[in-house]
Amino acid sequence: MGHSSEKDPHVVIVGAGFGGLRLARRLSRLPVRVTLLDRNNYHLFQPLLYQVATAGISPDEIAHPVRAILRGQKNLEFRMSEVTGVNLDARTLSTTMGEMTYDYLVLAIGGQTHFFGLQSVQQHGFGLKTLDDASAIRNHILRQFELANQTGDAALRRALLTFVVVGGGPTGVECAGALAELIGLVLRKDYPTLNFKDVRVVLLEATDRLLANLPPELSEATAEALWRKHVEVRFGAAVTEYDGQRVTLKGGEVLPAHTLIWAAGVRAADLVQRLPVEHGAQGRVRVLPTLQLPERPEVFVIGDAALLDGKDGRPLPMVAPVAMQQADLVAHNLERLLRGQALESFAYKDLGSMATIGRNQAVAWLGTLRLRGFLAWVAWLFVHLVQLVGFRNRLLVLINWTWDYFFYDRAVRIIFGVQRPEAPSDKG
Ligand SMILES: Cc1cc2nc3c(=O)[nH]c(=O)nc-3n(C[C@H](O)[C@H](O)[C@H](O)COP(=O)(O)OP(=O)(O)OC[C@H]3O[C@@H](n4cnc5c(N)ncnc54)[C@H](O)[C@@H]3O)c2cc1C
Repeated sequence: MGHSSEKDPHVVIVGAGFGGLRLARRLSRLPVRVTLLDRNNYHLFQPLLYQVATAGISPDEIAHPVRAILRGQKNLEFRMSEVTGVNLDARTLSTTMGEMTYDYLVLAIGGQTHFFGLQSVQQHGFGLKTLDDASAIRNHILRQFELANQTGDAALRRALLTFVVVGGGPTGVECAGALAELIGLVLRKDYPTLNFKDVRVVLLEATDRLLANLPPELSEATAEALWRKHVEVRFGAAVTEYDGQRVTLKGGEVLPAHTLIWAAGVRAADLVQRLPVEHGAQGRVRVLPTLQLPERPEVFVIGDAALLDGKDGRPLPMVAPVAMQQADLVAHNLERLLRGQALESFAYKDLGSMATIGRNQAVAWLGTLRLRGFLAWVAWLFVHLVQLVGFRNRLLVLINWTWDYFFYDRAVRIIFGVQRPEAPSDKG
């Protein structure tokens, strides 16, 4: 571990997500002073948020305190505070804990739910991006069953038990699959007098296929697997409005439902949208191949917040491997900058993508390998478990998964804490 002195350049990293955390660790041997800022005191493993939302695991199993992860790194200081502004000319940050100056700045602030300007959906639906979102969804779903169990009004009961998930990407697919299993395998036992024919899990997708980045046969296998779990998959279904009780689709159709989970869009976090620089799709900041801001060699942007085209000319996806590989390059490039050497360009190594559709079911596309079913599911379990930060978390998740698997149970069925997080701002 490198010791730092006051004379060393000050590197400020904003965001302790996949990119920021990785970078912070990579800088341990460089002669720099590192300050890592995050509005939360934990690193969040977002790929398993849907399992918190569907009562499979508890929030603290996918969140790990940043201080515990980086304990012992002598050249680093962590501060829990939110960055509210960046003055690129003065090289200062405004934070909830005051002003801060930097020599080098790395923005790794990720993304947030994108409601595409649909105010009513933002107000009454649930995003799935934060720990609060996931806990609120879990509480809400469980409460709908309690309410449904008590009402004598058949139409109301059906609406209480209709769960709409919007968006056929990995998050929507995984969420709908896990929800169907929670209901079919677990809640069915908890509510023996409830008529489960009233329950509907509906997955709405605006285009004509699920998991659009996978080969068509895997998209089809995904839709079939969901149908087998009694998820109603509807294509060409675009939501235009939601009042908390009725979902309105383009074309006028109305679907009575007291739950809508919005998994149809992400965009760059607010702070980068306010930067006076060029923005592209989803409000992401266009960066140079070296990951620097144009004309600002001391500022890097990585991960979901950054926009860079891949080899195929399309923007790199907003996924964890991109953020982590970009963190590696920024560490390398900072070292080269300090030595006065020319910087290198980012080249993404695509390791493939996968999504799970519930028990024993997943699809995976790993280079030339196309897997589906049980084998893909085992691969998915393995990949997610090894990437979870911290031995304790890994163990807890493994125990919960094993328990669920053998006993068709869900560990976290208590209703407590967050009801509905404040709707994030979304100006479209
Ligand atoms: C439900 C869900 C499922 C996903 N599943 C997968 C998957 O299976 N595989 C995959 O590869 N990717 C998945 N992703 C995407 C993946 O999580 C992101 O691509 C990845 O987190 C991006 O990393 P990042 O470092 O850019 O940002 P993040 O990991 O989002 O980290 C950003 C950090 O910045 C902090 N922050 C933001 N704004 C501020 C501010 N103003 N001040 C201080 N701190 C701030 C946040 O608190 C956060 O800790 C999923 C995402 C979601 C939401």
